[in-house]
Amino acid sequence: YASDPGEKTATVGGNAATNAGGPSAVRYGTMKDNVVAATVVLPAGEVLELGGNVGKSSSGYDILQLILGSEGTLGIITELTLKLWPKPKADISLILPFAEAASIPAAADALKKSGLAVSVMEYIDTDIVEFAGAVTGNPVFPVEMEGNRAAASLLLTIEGKDDDELDAAMEAVAEMSEEWGVLDILVVDTPSLKKDVWAAHDAFHTAAESAAKYADELNMTVPPMAMAEYFEYVKGLGSKAGLDVYAYGHAGDGGVHIYVCTSDADKDAFTAKKTALFDAAYAKCKELGGKVSSEHGIGYVKKDYLKESMGEDAYALMGRIKAAFDPKGILNPGKVVG
Ligand SMILES: Cc1cc2nc3c(=O)[nH]c(=O)nc-3n(C[C@H](O)[C@H](O)[C@H](O)COP(=O)(O)OP(=O)(O)OC[C@H]3O[C@@H](n4cnc5c(N)ncnc54)[C@H](O)[C@@H]3O)c2cc1C
Repeated sequence: YASDPGEKTATVGGNAATNAGGPSAVRYGTMKDNVVAATVVLPAGEVLELGGNVGKSSSGYDILQLILGSEGTLGIITELTLKLWPKPKADISLILPFAEAASIPAAADALKKSGLAVSVMEYIDTDIVEFAGAVTGNPVFPVEMEGNRAAASLLLTIEGKDDDELDAAMEAVAEMSEEWGVLDILVVDTPSLKKDVWAAHDAFHTAAESAAKYADELNMTVPPMAMAEYFEYVKGLGSKAGLDVYAYGHAGDGGVHIYVCTSDADKDAFTAKKTALFDAAYAKCKELGGKVSSEHGIGYVKKDYLKESMGEDAYALMGRIKAAFDPKGILNPGKVVG
């Protein structure tokens, strides 16, 4: 299942409605790349059969793509046909700790252009490793290598047809990494280590929920080449506001997850500082050419940021599209638009 988002209890309809895409989106795309056809019921009861098992189409407006990611505001998805991908015959994961986080975007870009079958490319800031590691007792990702602090790490998974191909891929990464200032290359070569790595990765989210007194998450997309700059910017906002900021992201597609936390018990103070930080972070995201949500969608809470980022005209057009599908406004009223 190519989309495979981190939330394992979600429905396939919910995945399609939020255009979900997990850590492997860099290779396999999101739901928009993987839904071939869908049955959608409109609010007045019309049943639409959208898409089809064809590779090419130039056949009018693409209503299927409009439905995907529309968060249940245009119609109800009752049936989906998805692409199936062959399971990779072999894969290997590597962790590359970087002395300078600023080197990661160019490294990720070089890997994308290398021809290697990279299916995971996670940018993991070391502050979040320490924060989550203190909660779980097992950070897994490196913090320091022989006295040198890792600023951030890149977690890679590379697919291949057999072990020889993976060995060649690892050699290619080692050669390329000579230019990146990596402190080491750690090979995740056993199933139990792989399990630990993903458990540590999943703990980034749960640690913020369990260890901070109050926490909220920023999720947006920035151009992948701007990810290190963006993390530094938001961490700087956190320092000024007296809030803790922990970040990781999908280096291949630019999706970022930033947890803004406090151990202070004053909820009103947290809300005020966090709101100011979020406003500045969304403004910077727009300035860099990013998008206000990479996952989860817009819902009710991101509507103002969406309007601000896409502009009045495009947002008003979305409102008219919503009205054409759902004139009585009965599907998720107030969500995304309206
Ligand atoms: C811990 C965690 C990790 C996550 N990791 C990722 C990730 O890695 N990548 C990613 O992309 N997302 C991620 N998400 C977001 C997640 O993918 C979405 O929340 C999920 O896809 C929604 O599916 P659901 O079944 O829970 O839908 P719900 O939360 O029930 O609904 C989500 C929206 O879709 C609408 N909807 C649901 N079903 C349908 C349908 N059949 N037809 C029309 N509209 C419908 C609902 O009305 C609602 O607006 C994560 C979320 C959590 C909580």
